[in-house]
Amino acid sequence: MNQQGHMASYGQPQPGYQGYQQFGYNSQHTAGVPTSQYGPYNGPVQGYQPTAVPQGPLRPTSGAPPTSLPPSTAAQSTAYNQYGQGDIQNGPAMSDQMQRFPVSQSYMPGSQPMPYQQYAPPASNAQQLPNQMAAMQISGSTSNAPPPVSQSYGPPTSHRQTTGPAVYTQYSTPLQNIASNVPQSGNPPQLPFPGQSAPVTTFTSPPTSAGMNLPPPSGVPRPTAMHGPPLPGQSLTGFPPSQPPTGHYPPQPNHRPAGPQPGMPGVVPGPPTQGFQVHPTQPSQGFIPQQNGSFGQMRAPQPNYAAPYTGAPTYSSQPQPQQKRLDPDSIPSPPLNELPPQQKTRHRIDPDAIPSPIQVIEDDKSNRGSEPFSTGVRGQVPPLVTTDFVIKDQGNSSPRFIRCAAYNLPCTSDMAKQCQVPLTAVIKPLATLPADEAPPYIVDHGETGPIRCNRCKAYMCPYMQFIEGGRRFQCAFCSCVTEVLPHYFQHLDHTGKRMDYYDRPELSLGSYEFLATVDYCKNNKIPNPPAFIFMIDVSYNALKSGLVHLLCEELKSLLDYLPREGNAEESAIRVGFVTYNKVLHFYNVKSSLAQPQMMVVSDIADMFVPLLDGFLVNVNESRAVINSLLEQIPEMFADTRETETVFGPVIQAGLEALKAAECAGKLFIFHSTLPLAEAPGKLKNRDDKKLINTDKEKVLFQPQTSFYNNLAKECVAQGCSVDLFLFPNQYVDVATLGLVTYQTGGSIYKYTYFQAQADGERFLNDLHRDVRKVIGFDSVMRVRTSTGIRATDFFGSFYMSNTTDVELAALDCDKAITVEFKHDDKLNEDNGAQIQCALLYTSCSGQRRLRIHNLSLNCCTQLADLYRNCETDTLINYFVKLAYRGVLSNPTKTVRDTLINQSAQILACYRKNCASPSSAGQLILPECMKLLPVYLNCVLKSDVLQPGAEVSTDDRAYIRQLITSMDVAETNVFFYPRLLPVHKMDVDSDDFPVAIRCSEERLSKGGIYLLENGLNLFIWVGMNTQHDLIQSIFNVQSFGQIDSALATLPMLDNPYSKKLRSMVDMIRAQRPRFMKLMIVKQDDKTELLFKHFLMEDKSVNGGASYVDFLCHMHKEIRQLLS
Ligand SMILES: [Zn+2]
Repeated sequence: MNQQGHMASYGQPQPGYQGYQQFGYNSQHTAGVPTSQYGPYNGPVQGYQPTAVPQGPLRPTSGAPPTSLPPSTAAQSTAYNQYGQGDIQNGPAMSDQMQRFPVSQSYMPGSQPMPYQQYAPPASNAQQLPNQMAAMQISGSTSNAPPPVSQSYGPPTSHRQTTGPAVYTQYSTPLQNIASNVPQSGNPPQLPFPGQSAPVTTFTSPPTSAGMNLPPPSGVPRPTAMHGPPLPGQSLTGFPPSQPPTGHYPPQPNHRPAGPQPGMPGVVPGPPTQGFQVHPTQPSQGFIPQQNGSFGQMRAPQPNYAAPYTGAPTYSSQPQPQQKRLDPDSIPSPPLNELPPQQKTRHRIDPDAIPSPIQVIEDDKSNRGSEPFSTGVRGQVPPLVTTDFVIKDQGNSSPRFIRCAAYNLPCTSDMAKQCQVPLTAVIKPLATLPADEAPPYIVDHGETGPIRCNRCKAYMCPYMQFIEGGRRFQCAFCSCVTEVLPHYFQHLDHTGKRMDYYDRPELSLGSYEFLATVDYCKNNKIPNPPAFIFMIDVSYNALKSGLVHLLCEELKSLLDYLPREGNAEESAIRVGFVTYNKVLHFYNVKSSLAQPQMMVVSDIADMFVPLLDGFLVNVNESRAVINSLLEQIPEMFADTRETETVFGPVIQAGLEALKAAECAGKLFIFHSTLPLAEAPGKLKNRDDKKLINTDKEKVLFQPQTSFYNNLAKECVAQGCSVDLFLFPNQYVDVATLGLVTYQTGGSIYKYTYFQAQADGERFLNDLHRDVRKVIGFDSVMRVRTSTGIRATDFFGSFYMSNTTDVELAALDCDKAITVEFKHDDKLNEDNGAQIQCALLYTSCSGQRRLRIHNLSLNCCTQLADLYRNCETDTLINYFVKLAYRGVLSNPTKTVRDTLINQSAQILACYRKNCASPSSAGQLILPECMKLLPVYLNCVLKSDVLQPGAEVSTDDRAYIRQLITSMDVAETNVFFYPRLLPVHKMDVDSDDFPVAIRCSEERLSKGGIYLLENGLNLFIWVGMNTQHDLIQSIFNVQSFGQIDSALATLPMLDNPYSKKLRSMVDMIRAQRPRFMKLMIVKQDDKTELLFKHFLMEDKSVNGGASYVDFLCHMHKEIRQLLS
């Protein structure tokens, strides 16, 4: 249970930061004696401590002197091994049942050797450019267009030798005809293929498919360009002649970050900030990408997703055979060129001709997964969240902590308004890092507390500029000059950098922690260690489902895993227990008692805690009494007939208990029914699906009483976070019950129709992870920015009582907060823009700390620079949170329209200002945003915004709440699930098979597929799957014998079974929530559920297919442009 997140590992050299190893400072800071060991006043630099807390057997409050310096390697490595393993950062090994795998080890298809990796870092997108251009040219007019100037990533030194025109991240599909679906009989439509030099007129599309859920094109005069081929000589036949002048494009030379000069030659790999600069032509590479089928055209020989891969991600001069990915069997339909002509009209657009998420993900893995991402260069777009990569903190925060939608901000608000690209960051302050990345160091600035700017109170960071020989520093955020305190003084070297630059995390790293002083504590008092209170519904349903029995049994062992600080022997967290139905039962579990004592509070109108002494106890001291209690609870209520429950008083009771104990903490509430019993916070069943698609639909997402709003406020003030585990058999009003959880930074879990037998595994895994995870209590987060922009809006699970402080009763390692920035002045290109996120929190041992994350971004005066440095996954994270908040006050249709409109504006602005002039009939997308339409469509079709008949009101409210605190990786896979062809897995490799696109037509009847989205996990079996494979995995002889009720795969001793089970385990370990496995056989009735996640297809509830939606977006964009 160590909360290793804060373990700074001294013995653990951080790559590139050897300086840290020299300082064995290990002085201990104990909560009770905050000032006793601050050496900094005399000594050299010793600001930071390797560990925040005592080593070895010392208890946090012991105030004992430091143990040996430096900490033993063994201790370190133990700590390290535990750290970052997703679920098991805390404590001793879990039971087999709980076993998980290291997060960082899985899903690494990108690890195939790539021949040109030295060019890798910045690039996948730009590399694709020629592909798209080529595709565009070919499809647009003729195939014998001159080769585009190819881009390649030369060594860093060469990146300014730009010879070619700008690399536009344009993408064009043969969409020009889509909106003008003029049927032309006798002239079978054809899809533009490379090599076809047919005039565009022959592309004329068949009629719009009947079921397409798109507004008819009527009313919009069709631009003539839609009918004819793009004009010869236009951009279609070559690189656009009208690219922005090279003065802008490629733009400025790289800016080094203002503060953290990554002056470590050889450490900062030279990838230019503007990753998409033009590089000298390398003809040998120029044309390979044209083979790339991602933009169509190459559908033929490998009809499956294979086409995109035939040559795509490789930068070698020959396409790499990617055997495993090519499987002609895996698509039901024959290659297009073998189809009779009339069948070619089936699709107006070749699905392989539109941007493929898989292609983009795989390219990024290939190009950027192999080299560490160093954060020393300002405004650098990190690899995608789906890429497994190592990060080196060189002065900016790791993208695991902060990810932005735009890394090159527009200089003026006018520009921002024009492009409509939201300037937003997703911040995950306590994110878990993989084992090979150092957790933030802990810095101690002594009794005066962290060094800060006098005016804006920004914390010392790499961007602060020391002047006057080091006697003062100028703030990077507000420009104010602050005196350096004597104990912090240090001389500057000849470059103006402090001599101790590399020895102080706060001068050279993007992320670190400060020890906070009493000034940062509530009422200027060092906080008590937090408490966990388990509050168990013991009404009829909870007993009958087996929940109470299962939970009590599990708690006995789970209590050994409470979060622990560093190497502390035991957790400082105290625990308490409450059971309830219509009344509440408190338990005295004082260690001196022979048996636990129960106290019943039946007057729940004005909740109070009937006992103080003996309610919150140390687990080890009271172990026997606690175990006895947990034995007795299921028996005591075994025969209960009580079906009614209360809910508000339960939270109130927990809150009062924490108040009485003067500590922060967390309530774990296990609840089964709508609280109908007479009590504060009583609810009624107000579910009404008829409201869907009406103006009143928003009511379903709003709490039905303000009682819980007020309660949440009180909880936040006390630092009382609420985790809610729901076990409903019917409507429980998640929108209302979840409110306190939502506003206190808690987590919500829902197990509908819970049966211990079937759902126990999932629940217990979730519970374990939830109890054990790294967490900060009683937190406040503040985001400071340099002059010109400021944080204006926040999305996540928290409470805000003013416009700047994000109050979090608790914040755990899984929670992310999305922040939107707006201009309040002009930015300038030289200075860039700086963001500092400071999270003040109480650690699990009661230590008050500040975690600081810094990020510097570029600024631009050319929109093209903005569009080349965006990140669509982050953009989508923002959009979905914006939309899901929007449904509280708007009809879902309005919300959907708003999203479409803003996205269309983003793309239209690009088209108008950045893309070369070309036929209006062409859809041209910025490279970084080419997946915006497909991902946006997934959001629009989601259960919250467009529910099917089978989706319950509670599920919608539940999903809405979950999404609100998701990080970018989670929203990415949630909205576009990962679909892996199991039958293609390589049993000899640790890699996963390459994913395929989420569409039914990509499934082979002879295949087995695994689909996951972070919440759901399916294995789909095609009816023609080989018997051998079925036997190996399911231990039955034929498809018909497979039991689709299986919740786990049989443990068979053969490579296929082992590999698949290990894949399932690894995928589960990557996600914050345990996914229950569901087996789906082709054509079974459960298949509908599975198909719900095939996001590129038309959905049952009316959601558009990807192709149709792309057409729709195109139309929207054209309307904006006309
Ligand atoms: Zn300042």
